[in-house]
Amino acid sequence: MKSFHIFLLGVLFCLSLCVQTASAVISFDKSFYSPLNSKRPLRKSTSLIVLHTTEAPSKSALQKLSALGECNYCIDEKGRVYLIIDRQREAFHAGRSMWNGRTNVDKFSVGIEVCGYHDKALTTAQFRALADLIAELKHYYKIPDHCIIPHSQVAYATPNRWFTRSHRGRKRCGMMFALPVVRRLLGLKTRPGSDPDVKAGRLIVGDKHLSNVLYGTVQIPRSVVAAAVAAQKKPPAAPNKKGKQDVAPPPADNKKSPPGKKTSPAPPPAVPPPIAVASAEVDAIRRNEGNVIGKNHSAWDIARNAYNNEHTVYTFPDGTKKCGHQIVDFKSIPVGTKVEVNVSDENLPDTYQIIGINGTAEDIAGEETLSFQTIYVCPDGHYFRGSQLNQQSLKKLRYNTKVLTGYSVGGPVTVKRTPTDICGAQWRAKDTFYLINNRLVPGNQVDEKKIPSGTMIFYRS
Ligand SMILES: [Zn+2]
Repeated sequence: MKSFHIFLLGVLFCLSLCVQTASAVISFDKSFYSPLNSKRPLRKSTSLIVLHTTEAPSKSALQKLSALGECNYCIDEKGRVYLIIDRQREAFHAGRSMWNGRTNVDKFSVGIEVCGYHDKALTTAQFRALADLIAELKHYYKIPDHCIIPHSQVAYATPNRWFTRSHRGRKRCGMMFALPVVRRLLGLKTRPGSDPDVKAGRLIVGDKHLSNVLYGTVQIPRSVVAAAVAAQKKPPAAPNKKGKQDVAPPPADNKKSPPGKKTSPAPPPAVPPPIAVASAEVDAIRRNEGNVIGKNHSAWDIARNAYNNEHTVYTFPDGTKKCGHQIVDFKSIPVGTKVEVNVSDENLPDTYQIIGINGTAEDIAGEETLSFQTIYVCPDGHYFRGSQLNQQSLKKLRYNTKVLTGYSVGGPVTVKRTPTDICGAQWRAKDTFYLINNRLVPGNQVDEKKIPSGTMIFYRS
């Protein structure tokens, strides 16, 4: 088995050489060239290349990166390289950052965004394009391999609810670029051996998993590697079939079959494709993560500094959703809550407040706490108007009771009384809620053919 490993490393090395030497002159797409270029200062020095993952598909990422001037280059899923901010100018890509005692890494680095996720394999085209771009920049700026590092390696956070000191681990952005197997694909031979700022006591480790990826070794079961390699040895999908091919196709077999001999199935390629191995290793870094809150797996562990962001969505075990910025008490989030980061605007949940998550009834409804138009929907599906409650019964409202302020109650829906009869055009509004199976279903998500008879509707008055 050991010899297999050595063989694999050899192959990776050869292939990484191929990737490097095959680099052609890179043509840059300027269709997302940032309008902020003229406003960005020239860097006085360049000693780092910082690699990012957009954590969003190229369609939305490119627009944002360009509008805010947040990187020098961006590589989309097809391997197209976009010039966003001229390479000699400062791009605002690293945010709160420090490396070897120097803060504000934007001032001395080039920032490259790759459209993809920190824990998912990139496309072959992206690996190739990134290798080419790195080779060119390395040559131009004379930057050594260990100074080409992921964003997560330089980002840091100030004290927060989880840490009393400034700490590494604000983000996991680009962390796959620290994996030796991925670095070999990018033509990089070395990486930093330890965190200089943690070593010097300037920061503490705030994310052990990240630290393990950056400086330790990620163990992947050999069976996973073998399976990944085997999967890639399969011939490419038949031409007319749909299906993405993210992995390198096996080398083309140009030799013609000797005359007279039957054409046998193509032999397996002589070398196992390295991208498959990289994919397996990248997958391995995800195994410790998961996006469900557990006893020892907090919102911070999952979402990092996006934990209280408006584009981070928490889906509670009962199916209700909240955005990060709507949550007051992160300790009260129940185990089993799913956390999604970078949710696009159209998929964001609609807003009502929740007792326990957003505070007490008074915190949420203020002077309207006992109002006729404040509706409390309990986890068991019972609901009350504020006017039916008093200070004592308010205190008895359970954790996870939803609070709607400024609402009317309509219903019930019957065969003769449709949602339109009850609340007119508002029946389809996203801030109109149907109480179905103890859940509040927004009007824009309700299936009009499946609204049970007897359903109550809460709509803005
Ligand atoms: Zn980043």
